[in-house]
Amino acid sequence: MAAPEAFQGCHSCNYNFVIMPPIPRRRKPGRYHPRPMRVEAVQGDITAEAVDAIVNAANSSLLGGGGVDGAIHRAAGPELVEACRPLGGCHTGDAKATSGFRLPARWVIHTVGPVWRGGGAGEAELLASCYRRSLEVADELGARSVAFPAISTGIYGYPAEEAATIAVNTVRSTPSSVELVRLVAFDDRTRRLYEERLA
Ligand code: ADP
Repeated sequence: MAAPEAFQGCHSCNYNFVIMPPIPRRRKPGRYHPRPMRVEAVQGDITAEAVDAIVNAANSSLLGGGGVDGAIHRAAGPELVEACRPLGGCHTGDAKATSGFRLPARWVIHTVGPVWRGGGAGEAELLASCYRRSLEVADELGARSVAFPAISTGIYGYPAEEAATIAVNTVRSTPSSVELVRLVAFDDRTRRLYEERLA
């Protein structure tokens, strides 16, 4: 028998009674558990991805920048920066969501990757945190399909091989209700790096 969770005294009769923890119900497999996550690599422009949420490799201001960030802001329209303004920026490794406005995706999850400083400044853990936090935010939104760019591998200089390993390992090991993750490579080499790690 399971151990009692709490004891309470009963004033009127002086009996002590015990509140037992609820008896766990048997769950039918497949009905209540999230479906296993499918992870796939594709090559292209993330702004065209018709998924529930795309992830933006943003900078900590969340007010737009170059690379994929600039492309997402251009495609989403000027409403996106207005939606980002009240978020008050974002710490490296964290993620925050907005609507997708004119994008095919319903939401944009903005995450801030680490700048590569040689690998000794916690970059790997911060990059893993970007993928993990983005999936957590996707779960909060109820998103079932999420597309990621190769966070930090452009202007922020993260080596593509190591970043691809972290991307694949982190999405695979993060418990989530997201059913489809698309790792969107902008170039051929990054797509191959993903495919090797997913094989
Ligand atoms: P960071 O500052 O995090 O390095 P960048 O935008 O400079 O972000 O680059 C991140 C990755 O996104 C790079 O691999 C870059 O090639 C890629 N990228 C740039 N534009 C797009 C796009 N429109 N769709 C998908 N990936 C893109």
